[in-house]
Amino acid sequence: TQRTLVLLKPDTVRRGLVGEVLSRFEAKGLSIVAMELRHIDAGKADEHYAEHVERDFYPPLRDFVTSGPLVALVLEGDEAIEVVRALNGATDGRKAAPGTIRGDLSLSNRENLVHGSDSPDSAAREIAMWFPQLAL
Ligand code: ATP
Repeated sequence: TQRTLVLLKPDTVRRGLVGEVLSRFEAKGLSIVAMELRHIDAGKADEHYAEHVERDFYPPLRDFVTSGPLVALVLEGDEAIEVVRALNGATDGRKAAPGTIRGDLSLSNRENLVHGSDSPDSAAREIAMWFPQLAL
């Protein structure tokens, strides 16, 4: 079994889609291990997106993820990292396949509702950063 860090970004909260998105993860069979509503500052955004801080798309992404509360959670299940990324769909909501969270509910490359850790190493780093009480 595996754990992954998921964010329901501020667009999910603002649009009233927390229940809709969470229910997809729950229906799939993933378990919620930790969950918290957080309104992060720019420093926390930079820490989370450390690999993107120099990219052109980062400043508006930082503004977006700090624009309102988000829901951070840890999900657990068999191959949870890959399963969550498959449920999330491609980064760009306009191109994401129907049936995925982004494909069904987002029409944006930036405001794409969800984040999921992309590897075991990033899951470990992100879980330690968001939920230090869970770190091994
Ligand atoms: P995440 O890491 O959030 O699960 P991802 O792995 O699909 O998404 P990344 O390439 O890691 O996508 O980009 C991180 C986030 O940055 C994206 O989810 C999106 O919100 C934003 N983003 C990425 N590329 C662009 C872009 N070209 N224009 C605007 N926003 C972007």
